[in-house]
Amino acid sequence: MEKQRTIEKEFSLEGNGLQRGLPVKAFFYPGDEDSGIIFVRRDLENKPSIRLGDLTDIATDRRSKIGDYVETVEHILAALWGAEVDNIRIELTSSEPPGLDGSAILFLEALKAVGIKTQRREREFIEVKKPLWVEDKESFLGIFPSQTFKISYILEYPGPAIGRQFFSDIVDSEVFQKEIAPARTFCLKEEVNSLLRQGYGKGANLKNTLVMAKNGPIDNILRFPDEPVRHKVLDLIGDLYLLGKPIKGRVIAIRSGHKLNLELVEKIKESQ
Ligand SMILES: [Zn+2]
Repeated sequence: MEKQRTIEKEFSLEGNGLQRGLPVKAFFYPGDEDSGIIFVRRDLENKPSIRLGDLTDIATDRRSKIGDYVETVEHILAALWGAEVDNIRIELTSSEPPGLDGSAILFLEALKAVGIKTQRREREFIEVKKPLWVEDKESFLGIFPSQTFKISYILEYPGPAIGRQFFSDIVDSEVFQKEIAPARTFCLKEEVNSLLRQGYGKGANLKNTLVMAKNGPIDNILRFPDEPVRHKVLDLIGDLYLLGKPIKGRVIAIRSGHKLNLELVEKIKESQ
């Protein structure tokens, strides 16, 4: 039986949020058994906190957002999933965690560098008992009962800069660290201005975001030939961890993004 885990000791990271671009510090503290993953806004009066899994209010457009206080948590959550951390308290001085390099790898390495501590209580998983899915036009996201966690993802963007990419594998913490965690966030060159106008990507730059043009990313080098689809898998893993517990199941995703991811999270919660 697997046991719950937390971090050995506290640490902090700082940077700027990817979307709003505000400077932020994130403090990570070990959590007691069964305490779960908790975010705290230490810069606000009364220091409001949110525990994953208790969420009644998750909504998103281009980022996962929980309640009124915390947003763009998908990369940090994917790293927690990859480090198999069940119990931790993360205190933020702004609404978004630091964007770091636009992937999950620096969060994951920081978590592993302080050490992961095994606790006594058993780790709990979410298991789906029947197929669950959500869809919107040509996008689809479904999860089917299975004892392993396998993701198959089809990414499709108009034009040649990204095009169609496919990822399919059983994802465990090792596969995550090597194949998924280093994949950075991305957008099309043509999208940059409209995203900025909508208030997104203010903390983005050409190093932490792949700005994809016809011949590849502008002023950057891909870490994988199919880095965008791997990043979509990263986001999906992070969004699913909003449930507060790791999930078992066979996931099929076609052009899914945060909106569908969060709709599926809601559906999974309702089915439990
Ligand atoms: Zn992302």
